[in-house]
Amino acid sequence: LLALQGATVRFGGRAVLDAVDLEVAEHEIVCVLGPSGSGKSTLLRVVAGLQPLDSGRVSLDGRDQAGVPAHRRGVGLMFQDHQLFPQRDVGGNVVFGLRMHGASKRQQGERVQELLDLVGLPGASRRAVAALSGGEQQRVALARALAPSPRLLMLDEPLGQLDRSLRERLVVELRELFGRLGTTVLAVTHDQGEAFALADRVVVMRDGRIAQSGTPLEVWQRPADAFVARFLGFEN
Ligand code: ATP
Ligand code: MG
Repeated sequence: LLALQGATVRFGGRAVLDAVDLEVAEHEIVCVLGPSGSGKSTLLRVVAGLQPLDSGRVSLDGRDQAGVPAHRRGVGLMFQDHQLFPQRDVGGNVVFGLRMHGASKRQQGERVQELLDLVGLPGASRRAVAALSGGEQQRVALARALAPSPRLLMLDEPLGQLDRSLRERLVVELRELFGRLGTTVLAVTHDQGEAFALADRVVVMRDGRIAQSGTPLEVWQRPADAFVARFLGFEN
């Protein structure tokens, strides 16, 4: 579904993404791990069309995305800080993600209900965003990202601001939800427990490069180098 070839982004002469090759297959859940500043968010922004490449290419379904604007790529992106609209209610936030031009209010309302059921917030459409807990807000952001049925859903630290027990619960729910919907997911996290629980495949980044890519078990059992081993918390 997604392929990056030699994807490179430079800021002030420094390669923040350095010739990255990466493929994501349909229905696959890939989690990108790595220390702060290793280029994880930049990788997502490049795929989403929010950050141009200095060299290399991004293709979706075999089609080069150079010059294709973000809203034409059919990918959904949920940002690190989920950026809900505080002045709109829950339904208003989810509707924003819908691309249902010409749909009636009733059709839109039904789709919003469907999405809220999906993320475990049934009947929340009229609630004020500001009155929701962090976990509930995260679910609203997820519903908004899922609204246009993106062929590739990208999540940047989807559970970043939540406490550990809620994260552990949500990660299990997300895995189940994506499996049921057949969603292809590229998710960024710096929490390895989260990545290992969610992913079919884990990609570890270091300084704009991919240090290792493999199943959670492979990466855990055979870290590619000392950096990956240290990052996973092994002594050596
Ligand atoms: P974190 O885990 O902290 O979110 P990250 O892996 O997502 O980190 P990126 O946001 O991709 O890291 O940033 C990678 C590097 O690129 C960082 O050193 C950052 O300072 C730099 N960078 C990102 N965006 C820009 C920009 N617009 N201009 C200059 N430098 C940038
Ligand atoms: Mg980031």
